[in-house]
Amino acid sequence: MPGIYLHVPFCDTKCIYCDFYSITNHSQKEKFISALKKEIVSHSHKLSSRKFDTIFFGGGTPSLLSYSDFNSIFEALYSTYNISPESEITIESNPGTLNAEKLREFKKLPINRISLGVQSFIDSELKFLTRIHSAGEAVYSVKTAQDLGFENINVDLIFALPNQNLENWKYNLETAVGLNTQHISAYSLIFEEGTPLFNLRQCGKVNEADIELEHQMFEFTMEYLKAKGFKQYEISNYAKDGFECKHNLKYWNHEEYIAFGPSASSFIAGKRWTNVRNLAKCTELVESGKDAADFTETIDTKTSIYEHIFLGLRSKGIELNDFKSKYKFDFREKYSAPVKELIKNGFAEINNDTFRLTTKGYALCDEIASKF
Ligand code: SF4
Repeated sequence: MPGIYLHVPFCDTKCIYCDFYSITNHSQKEKFISALKKEIVSHSHKLSSRKFDTIFFGGGTPSLLSYSDFNSIFEALYSTYNISPESEITIESNPGTLNAEKLREFKKLPINRISLGVQSFIDSELKFLTRIHSAGEAVYSVKTAQDLGFENINVDLIFALPNQNLENWKYNLETAVGLNTQHISAYSLIFEEGTPLFNLRQCGKVNEADIELEHQMFEFTMEYLKAKGFKQYEISNYAKDGFECKHNLKYWNHEEYIAFGPSASSFIAGKRWTNVRNLAKCTELVESGKDAADFTETIDTKTSIYEHIFLGLRSKGIELNDFKSKYKFDFREKYSAPVKELIKNGFAEINNDTFRLTTKGYALCDEIASKF
């Protein structure tokens, strides 16, 4: 079943490392909500035969929206699309925007999964990342959500920060595990071009973490979380049994999703399109009955094979029978040289008719993907 993504393009402040589309001026919020609801309805004709089983509010900071904003968005979604009553419904939240009242409101809505952008449990690291919350507020958010009955919570963490040592990273992971959440995402810090962080590195004010140390942190993460009962089901994502993020799995498994809001990308019937990365422009296009996409591509077979392999290597592996019936050739035969070499060197394995990377292979995922 396909998923639904909604991009909420507002943040209180812009974090130095972030290249997601969001703005700190909230004056267009009402116009955004109105356009979002129109956009939801405008795609219904091509999606009437589909049933959806995930909804994901991402951003930006969706937790900045009010209870009545959410209510009206849910009303538009449920009255337009066939949505499974068992759907996973996630809201990304910044701990700096949450309190007990806000979380109580989430509980009254169909939301059943909270993804918290914690990033670190160390105040000096949060300060470096220009996050608006403290470590204490992050812990409070998790505990309050749990007290209110949320049973599916993710904590996002970032490692390989400049000046971060292995002990600090271990502390972050131990704190997250100690909070008993069902899911942990652990990403290494990326210096995205155009961000203030990128510019700081360019002028020598900040140095990237040592590559060896970054590998150690990644390897520690994989081993430690495995020992604590988390399954690594994607290169940066770890979940307790049955708590893999169903929505994100759609991206990695090459399944369909429809997305609304500025900069949001959809993938339906072999076509991918991305909305314009500008709130005013996006709103204007939707309000005048036009398509909000400024980029569309049809995924041809060659691209589909490449994406299937790349996404598979990063996540659950490549199911060989499924691959053969989809692309009409045998993965093992076509790529016999890299497959044999990777298995021989312990970077990959074949189990239950699936070719997948080992823990050692995950550490070199991008390099390995280039062999195919
Ligand atoms: S809160 Fe999230 S989306 Fe907003 S600027 Fe920070 S990292 Fe980016």
